[in-house]
Amino acid sequence: MHKRKYIFVTGGVLSGLGKGITAASVGNILKARGLKVFMQKLDQYINFDAGTLNPGEHGEVFVTDDGAETDLDLGHYERFTDENYSQDSSVMTGRVYSEIIAKERKGDYLGKTVQVIPHITDHIKQIIVRAGEKSGADVMIIEVGGTVGDFEGMHFLEAIRQMHNDYGDDNVMYIHMVFLPWLGVTKEVKTRPAQYSVRELQGFGIQPDVVGCRCDQQIDKPGLEKIARAGNLPVKAVIPMETANTVYNVPIILENYGLGDLIIEKFKLQDTTKPADFSEWKKLVSNILVDKRQVNIGLVAKYTTMEDTYISVLEATKAAGWHHNVNVKIEWVDSEKLEKTDANVNEILSGLDGFVVPGGFGVRGIEGKLKAAKYARENQIPYLGLCLGMQVSVIEFARNVLGRSDAHSTEFDENTTNPVIHIMEYQKTVANMGGTMRLGAYPCQVSPNSKAFEAYRQLSVSERHRHRYEFNNQYRKDFEKNGMKLSGLSPDGQLVEMVEIENHPFYIASQFHPEFKSRPGKPHPLFREFIGSVIKNTSLFEVNKSDAKEISLI
Ligand code: GLN
Repeated sequence: MHKRKYIFVTGGVLSGLGKGITAASVGNILKARGLKVFMQKLDQYINFDAGTLNPGEHGEVFVTDDGAETDLDLGHYERFTDENYSQDSSVMTGRVYSEIIAKERKGDYLGKTVQVIPHITDHIKQIIVRAGEKSGADVMIIEVGGTVGDFEGMHFLEAIRQMHNDYGDDNVMYIHMVFLPWLGVTKEVKTRPAQYSVRELQGFGIQPDVVGCRCDQQIDKPGLEKIARAGNLPVKAVIPMETANTVYNVPIILENYGLGDLIIEKFKLQDTTKPADFSEWKKLVSNILVDKRQVNIGLVAKYTTMEDTYISVLEATKAAGWHHNVNVKIEWVDSEKLEKTDANVNEILSGLDGFVVPGGFGVRGIEGKLKAAKYARENQIPYLGLCLGMQVSVIEFARNVLGRSDAHSTEFDENTTNPVIHIMEYQKTVANMGGTMRLGAYPCQVSPNSKAFEAYRQLSVSERHRHRYEFNNQYRKDFEKNGMKLSGLSPDGQLVEMVEIENHPFYIASQFHPEFKSRPGKPHPLFREFIGSVIKNTSLFEVNKSDAKEISLI
């Protein structure tokens, strides 16, 4: 058995280079060769985890089965490698430091000064190596957050530099991502910043084995040669990465440029790996890229300026579209605009074929989301509610069907006389905000006579959570009597995990986040059925309108 291998992915020149996608693609490439991979993200923030970061600025908080609140890159890792990761995959500086400080307080370093080198760096190395041991992976792929040269990233760079010496050249590899700007005036791709970035990495004692060159234009051979020369690399190790037509194409692009073979050669794994099998993945990519009929899905959300805020929701919705051979166009519906009393709801929402109301916190935009839920319910338009999106559908139903006009969640109105959503009992005494929600995977019993069951075809499922509030059980009977079915419950029957409306083409909402378990080639059942019903619904709608429209659908 060969030794465990480590691949580190760093970045330079700019942030936002798609290091996460590249690292995930490396995982994909190696898995296609039959290797077991494990992925990790080293994050520079002094935060303990991503749970308290603003998703509007930092992007979605991704939740793992074991309840870790992590950086959105873990979502890429799971989607590209079809593995479930854990807290072990998310290493934030605040957590690293707090563990060392706790040891210092305990007296583990009595008499010694505690320093970044060796204490913090040794701890980082230990975290990486232990995660590798626990996972049993052949290859660990570790993405270093931030940009080489950032003050905040020094401890990680120093730790990964040392690993080359600790584990040997056959077992440690560095992939450095750079950006090549396009200069419009001279119509050239410029390589100088990339060369400097490689030199900077070398200045930290790290010799990259591969340089990935992100660029919006085509990069010519002389450009690649310049970077190779500056980096002491063969030209084949400088890989052009022009902006891809879909991120899911990145593994194929990298494979075609020979990255997989480079890695296998470097690690001397030729005899222990099988030929790469990309058949399924290639099918997925060609399916994504083929022209398809479009459906328009309204994502009713508070943050509408950055896709990353709802990245798993978007990917899950799109994956459901690929499954059904339609192209999902996401239309952003700004819940704050919709909330305004003079908003023309019909004008804003008509033309949308289905609605997704995603998770969220805080009262901003809530009334807008309620209007969307009402519109979908009354107009028989498919609706998928996720976490807060379920709470919204419960509040809307209580107000407009049950006649409880001031119904609300106590998160938004503590004085409501109809707290149909209220804080979970054990959450009442929680003082700290970080890591204290109901987090991670919990089992859910699916009611056999429900649309949810038609989707899952399973009576017991496991889904990931991130919430403090829940359906108020006092109101169960009233909802059920009036057509809102409680189609998912916790095994002890105490927590409502899913609701749905009878006599509606598709109106399902879950207290959990199904988007985290969806995969590009295996959409989550709820998303899959949601888009399925959108297709059925829009077809009927179009057919009824005119024969000409019907033909255009075929
Ligand atoms: N704010 C709600 C709660 O805490 C919903 C959370 C979410 O959508 N993730 O219960």
